[in-house]
Amino acid sequence: MSTRQATDDRKTPPSAEENIARLRERQNVYLPKMMRLCAAGHPYYGPLMKKLGLTPDDFRTVEDLRKLPPLPKKEYANDPEAFRLDLEGVPGLAPEETTLADIVYTAGSTSKPAPFYDTVHDRFARVQLMARAAAIAGVGPDDTVMNIFPLSSIPHQGFLSASWGAMASGAKLLTGLTGRPYPDIPVHKRMDEAIDIAESQRATVLWGITAYVRRFVMRAQELGKDLSSVRLAMVMGEPCPPFMREDIRSRLMAMGSEAPTTNNGYGLTETQGPAMECVELGGMHQPSPEQFLFEVIDRDTGEPLPDGEPGMMLVSHLNRRGTVLLRYVGGDVVTLTHETCPHCGRTEPRFLGSPRRADGFTKVKGTLINLGSLQDELAALLRRGVTEYQIVLTTEDRSDPFSQDAMLLKVACASEDQERVGQEAKAVVRSAMEITPEIEYLPADGFGEIAGGYKFKRVIDERGR
Ligand SMILES: [Zn+2]
Repeated sequence: MSTRQATDDRKTPPSAEENIARLRERQNVYLPKMMRLCAAGHPYYGPLMKKLGLTPDDFRTVEDLRKLPPLPKKEYANDPEAFRLDLEGVPGLAPEETTLADIVYTAGSTSKPAPFYDTVHDRFARVQLMARAAAIAGVGPDDTVMNIFPLSSIPHQGFLSASWGAMASGAKLLTGLTGRPYPDIPVHKRMDEAIDIAESQRATVLWGITAYVRRFVMRAQELGKDLSSVRLAMVMGEPCPPFMREDIRSRLMAMGSEAPTTNNGYGLTETQGPAMECVELGGMHQPSPEQFLFEVIDRDTGEPLPDGEPGMMLVSHLNRRGTVLLRYVGGDVVTLTHETCPHCGRTEPRFLGSPRRADGFTKVKGTLINLGSLQDELAALLRRGVTEYQIVLTTEDRSDPFSQDAMLLKVACASEDQERVGQEAKAVVRSAMEITPEIEYLPADGFGEIAGGYKFKRVIDERGR
């Protein structure tokens, strides 16, 4: 193709290189101020920059962020306050930049979930991000969105995502207010009540954690409900493989929906919201790529990897005022592309395929948990009559691989200790991950059975997704 043809043909989509160049320009606008604020008031990066002999002037483009080392998740999780900007006394800031608005929590590497602070500035960025995410998914003013994220004991961002996504896109918003009941202030609704709302208000979009959305749809079907109005299941927090999408689709169709689709979002607490599919399995678009730098690096060498090659994801915040992380290793292995989307023509980068965990973190019921720290806590039981234990991540209904996550804890102990050990083990798991395990007792010498003749595995994930 001649140069003349290429420039004359306006239908030629921008190349990956052009998209990257345009994106870098937008990102580089934010970087200088971000680095000035880090130097002035970031408890971790201020001293680190000094130690490395770096000043804000050393960061002119986002590529300069490579002058800083990657930040392991545990550094943030162990001391989240050290990553919160302290802008007290810094002149020239707007009230939005310093006023605390929201706190959402991510899993810590201790049993304590780590707070992620949003100022009003960050809240506005969340609203903008979710408006764009909703638009990518095709949610708009004609929709009635049913938020079925739980109103959880520890606030996670899912509830905010679906609420802001609906509100900012002009859709009507319904809220299930499901979640673990809190007897002192009984605001929670049961799933069946939430299903009644979706039916009577003619919800068009169900938005929640993957396994919960499916359970919701299954239960509605069991109750003989009419969910013919639902056209889209927005399933977040965990992957939704094609066969699971098919299952959700066929159940919705059995309730009268004509051509329902699913949209599987991907995000971390630290990215403030999900990247979203424009079509099923078409890759997940980053809604606000100018606000975050995503790097994909080789796990062993730390070298940047080209588009299309899976590697460790690093996230840098370019325009935040609460919690600020730079080159943060969230623990996922991802594949990125900057090619113009062949499905919708958008130029934001997309994640391809299903991101997966690269470390000891996993998601259970949509919440990120650190299996390493859970094991540390459970190890205490080994000094209190437990000879061995094993964590099995499974599904509530073993014959149904799509049902809600569950946890089975196998403990080997003397029969007279079972009751006490069971109580203690449940308490440890509940405090670490908001889930009550089922306990299976093995005889004190039952280690051989746990090992099952194979190399002993402390954790077994049989969920197959
Ligand atoms: Zn697209």
